[in-house]
Amino acid sequence: MLTSQRFGDQPAAVERSAGKGHTAAQEVRVEILTIGTELLLGQTIDTNAAYIGEALAAAGIDVHWKSTVGDHEARIREALRTALTRSEIVIMTGGLGPTEDDLTCRAIAAELDRPLILDQTVLESIRRRFTERALVMSGNNERQAMIPEDAAVLPNPHGTAPGLAIRVGDGRMVMAVPGVPSEMRPMLKEQVIPRLREVFGVRSRIRSRTLKACGITESALDETISDLVRLSRNPTIAVLAYPDEIHIRLTVKTESELEGDRLLDDLETTIRTRLGEFLFGRDEERLEEVVGRLLLGAKATVAVAESCTGGLVCHRLTNLPGSSAYFIRGEVVYSNDVKERLLGVPHELIAEHGAVSRPVALAMAVGMRQIAGTDLAMGITGIAGPGGGTTTKPVGLTYVALASDDDVTCREYRFLSDRDTNKLLASQKALDILRRHLLSHRHAGPI
Ligand code: ATP
Ligand code: MG
Repeated sequence: MLTSQRFGDQPAAVERSAGKGHTAAQEVRVEILTIGTELLLGQTIDTNAAYIGEALAAAGIDVHWKSTVGDHEARIREALRTALTRSEIVIMTGGLGPTEDDLTCRAIAAELDRPLILDQTVLESIRRRFTERALVMSGNNERQAMIPEDAAVLPNPHGTAPGLAIRVGDGRMVMAVPGVPSEMRPMLKEQVIPRLREVFGVRSRIRSRTLKACGITESALDETISDLVRLSRNPTIAVLAYPDEIHIRLTVKTESELEGDRLLDDLETTIRTRLGEFLFGRDEERLEEVVGRLLLGAKATVAVAESCTGGLVCHRLTNLPGSSAYFIRGEVVYSNDVKERLLGVPHELIAEHGAVSRPVALAMAVGMRQIAGTDLAMGITGIAGPGGGTTTKPVGLTYVALASDDDVTCREYRFLSDRDTNKLLASQKALDILRRHLLSHRHAGPI
């Protein structure tokens, strides 16, 4: 069975080095071919293809195709044949091991019509690996030293299966690397990618930067920057929407890192001017990290009383080392009784408005601030679902309140997702309210 998937829209314009008979800026297509029946059955997720795709892109090499085939010699041959009709470089992963179902080497040899020849150097290094570990080498390990004629061997310091690089006619190349990720990754980075960059004279590199936004809908964000998305060529802009935040990925392709950074900086500045405080972070930065930094900067302390989020806001705030400098106390106040007894929410307030209501959220925040003695406190109450909703109070209705020294505010939300996502969204809103508050009070003295 053969599955294929097309990656990216733009052809890889790769400059080939002069003096090797290659034309400049000739298109080079790269294809990833992952091998393993377990990948087709969904028992193993094909993380190798994702890793290879990302690593090649970062090295300035675009991947055009990805295929997956099971451990079946005829079908591996067929997949390789197909790949070579449309790609200059085929990177195969998996099936290089010593067992009966490891057929990659045999399939390559048969398809490219190269006899398998015992490579003494490879055999020696496999033997050494076993001796060093005081293990007895089994016969099938010897099979791994059978290498297709004229193949360059890519040493594998992390395992027994060596990788292969085989030049085929017309400047094409087949490369095979092990399936085990911890063996594949270093081989790719240290041997495959440098070889490809050299052979094809690739000088450019791809760099990416992700700007993260929240508190704005995807369509509103799109309206704000759609002209930039449409017109930007280098860097390009991709907008990726998640339930709780939107990522704007800027990708630049340049020969000089400095030039790449400058182009990214310029575009980031333009986007920041348009989106302002909707942007909360960059790359791996999480919302709770930004909030933590702002709390530290303001020397402010916080406590959180949570109902529908069940402690998620506290969990996120305390995921960060050093959070004890600003996070003082968290309470999961699920029952009405606890809301009353612990936080002092008046019984009549709950009786009149219900536990999921603006007045109760406000009272939770105020009560929490009092018992924790913090600068800031939050109160969160809502209906996470799937049950418990009514026409006036539907599933997803959530109130998030923030109490500070001089003010107490509350916002109402209506989330439309499943329970887990509603909880995540409520926690995200709570953190974002905290962030906005801290930003707006940054230069205004006490919180
Ligand atoms: P080995 O020497 O272990 O036999 P190999 O090169 O023959 O290595 P496989 O037998 O195909 O590789 O796979 C070994 C293990 O590596 C699998 O059990 C799986 O966990 C992992 N693996 C293989 N291919 C992939 C892939 N594409 N993505 C993620 N993991 C993979
Ligand atoms: Mg194997």
